[in-house]
Amino acid sequence: QERNFVMSSATEPLPGTSDCWEPEVLDWIELETAAREIFHRYGYAEVRTPIFERTEVFVRSLGDETDVVQKEMYTFTDRGGRSLTLRPEGTAGVIRAVADRGLEQGEEARVFYFGPMFRGERPAAGRRRQFHQVGVEAVGNDSPWMDAECIAMLSHFLDQIGVTGGKIKINSRGLPEDRPQVSAALAEYFTPHAPGMCEDCQRRLTTNIWRMLDCKNPACQEVAAGAPDLVSLMGDDTRAFFARVCQSLDSLGVDYEVAPRLVRGLDYYIHTVFEITHPGLGAQDALAGGGRYRIVLPGAKKPVEGIGFAAGMERLLLARASLGRQTTAVAEADIAIISLGENAILPGLRLAQELRATLSGLRVKADFTGRSLKAQMRGANRSGARLALIRGDNELAENVVLCRDMTTSEQQSVPAADLMAWIDERRTTLFA
Ligand code: AMP
Repeated sequence: QERNFVMSSATEPLPGTSDCWEPEVLDWIELETAAREIFHRYGYAEVRTPIFERTEVFVRSLGDETDVVQKEMYTFTDRGGRSLTLRPEGTAGVIRAVADRGLEQGEEARVFYFGPMFRGERPAAGRRRQFHQVGVEAVGNDSPWMDAECIAMLSHFLDQIGVTGGKIKINSRGLPEDRPQVSAALAEYFTPHAPGMCEDCQRRLTTNIWRMLDCKNPACQEVAAGAPDLVSLMGDDTRAFFARVCQSLDSLGVDYEVAPRLVRGLDYYIHTVFEITHPGLGAQDALAGGGRYRIVLPGAKKPVEGIGFAAGMERLLLARASLGRQTTAVAEADIAIISLGENAILPGLRLAQELRATLSGLRVKADFTGRSLKAQMRGANRSGARLALIRGDNELAENVVLCRDMTTSEQQSVPAADLMAWIDERRTTLFA
């Protein structure tokens, strides 16, 4: 990307955030369009929820022992003294919105969303403070087939956008009633190793032992790799649920592997959890993650159950780029309008409007600076325009337009009345 302006700290975006320019913006639009198209095929509808919520919406649903809540939320007090938080993920807000609309017993909501998420993490390649997710939630169901369809939909979406080579890993977190025996087995395994593990893990041993499986610290990961297989410790119903999910995925031809120690970072999960990693991403190799959850909203009596996932949009684009997909540069303008002298400027403005109204799909840029022909031609060149339409006092008097092919430098005087037809005839050759 060309950057010929001077960078100074005052104009640079904050660490972990960035500005996005065309043509990259077009990649984002393409990604969003593909997501909409695929998720609509599965009967999901788009929802847009606020970027900030009451802090408790996140604390209550994600769990107060999670890394996101403990270390990463952008929380602030507003002028009314309320504690608000910029959303660190999409599920909690969507569940709040679904609950606000009301969901009758036995009724379902299937929705998808896109948008920025905010986490105060240490910025690194692939790890940002403002990043974007595309996600789905199917709320108000408790069926393992729903889990299988959701994972199949994610896999379909990745194929559709050309992100091949991802690895789907799935596991079960079980139900609350499975937790005591699993926690006991984990305690038995981790206690002798704890002194060699990080401070967070030593605390987790008593506060939230499952989190020890999910620690990012390499030494802790090494220990966690030897921990017992979680599903084998769970009750019959939980194991049957998980087996159904796996059988359904097999039957749909979705490629996955069971990852017996996968727990994922948030506390609201039950039953199925999954993650997709991609080899093109480097150290931060998680492309998407999700699972089944049970969330109790502040003030609600009953929990809401659903299944969903979120994929990092920056990472989807990175993974696609790693597979050789290139961003196509798009010119700022196809047609440049050059007006020489004060009298030509208003007619130039009007001509530009007329072209835009008549020729769809072409970009038209008019120069209002009154600069010299040479300077305006330089600008037209820089914009990538293939055609320059030049008028000064003489052309206006004769009612013609000088049409200059910017590629061949050929120039022709065309009567103003014939201009639209003249451009239309050359559309495919000029703007191929
Ligand atoms: P999570 O909710 O943490 O499982 O995140 C879901 C997906 O969002 C991950 O698989 C990543 O692709 C993406 N993601 C999460 N955190 C970040 C971040 N800080 N920067 C960029 N992408 C992220």
